[in-house]
Amino acid sequence: MKYTIGVDLGGTNIAAGVVDEQYHLLAKGSVKTESERGFEAVAASMAKLCLKLVADAGLSVEDIDSIGIGSPGTSNKENGDIIFSNNLHWDNVPLARTIRKATGVESVVVGNDADCAALGEFVAGAGEEFSSLAMITIGTGVGSGIILDNKVFAPANSVAPELGHTTLIYGGEPCTCGRRGCLESYASFTALIRDANRAADAHPESQLAKIREAGDRLNGKNIFDVAKAGDETAKELVAHFIDYIAQGAANIANAFGVRAIVIGGGISKEGKYVADQIHEIVKNTMYCGDMFAPEIRMATLGNDAGIIGAAALASHC
Ligand SMILES: [Zn+2]
Repeated sequence: MKYTIGVDLGGTNIAAGVVDEQYHLLAKGSVKTESERGFEAVAASMAKLCLKLVADAGLSVEDIDSIGIGSPGTSNKENGDIIFSNNLHWDNVPLARTIRKATGVESVVVGNDADCAALGEFVAGAGEEFSSLAMITIGTGVGSGIILDNKVFAPANSVAPELGHTTLIYGGEPCTCGRRGCLESYASFTALIRDANRAADAHPESQLAKIREAGDRLNGKNIFDVAKAGDETAKELVAHFIDYIAQGAANIANAFGVRAIVIGGGISKEGKYVADQIHEIVKNTMYCGDMFAPEIRMATLGNDAGIIGAAALASHC
């Protein structure tokens, strides 16, 4: 039996797990990132966590085939250096080499965190039966990862594709990246909340306005809740939001020909009824009609996707 370790390196936490060949998590844990301590200290914490999890799983380092690390930012595929990470304030740091030395595991690979989440869903979650898929994660922003013919689509010497920053509406709403009209500026929860506040201003009779009058802030959950309860303004708002996600999904399917699109983030809890609505719109928006329309699935692994995908990285890059 071969075992691998996956590390999901985030701005707040380093989460990691040991998996077997079927991607079952045998041990899992996390520590605070505290990136202000600097690269060496963060890498040392990561290595220590990996070694602890090996022991927790009842294994020894010799049983570990590889360590995969999903990191925010841009990495060098060949040598596992992090070239640049805005979140961690890292600039050209030798992540793979440092972890190799500190753990004694020879094969250490580094990839993009959003790619690892997509890979996790691909090997063990919502996209298991497909050979290609894209995952879009709807959160504060819109993250993306693409798997083509069983491999992570990550061009060497380039940045990971950022599908959230493809243009949905030319000249549209300002985006965090400095451009206008990106998918992220319409299909993120940040955008939904912005639009909900505008709708509440325009429709003081709506439940959206009532939520604010009660002293609460609008958020993804309460917006969806009042829409499901039948509030007309909220229903229209959510329908637009779902349409934006679907238009983005159709663009991705038209560009990459993937057979499945997995939707992750908080919206995945809304379940099949939202997935079915997205599928219906995608079918009607695809270049070839519905013949090659991708399946739309909600992510199933939650936060474990990043760990499991990182654990699968060495065999899929
Ligand atoms: Zn953007």
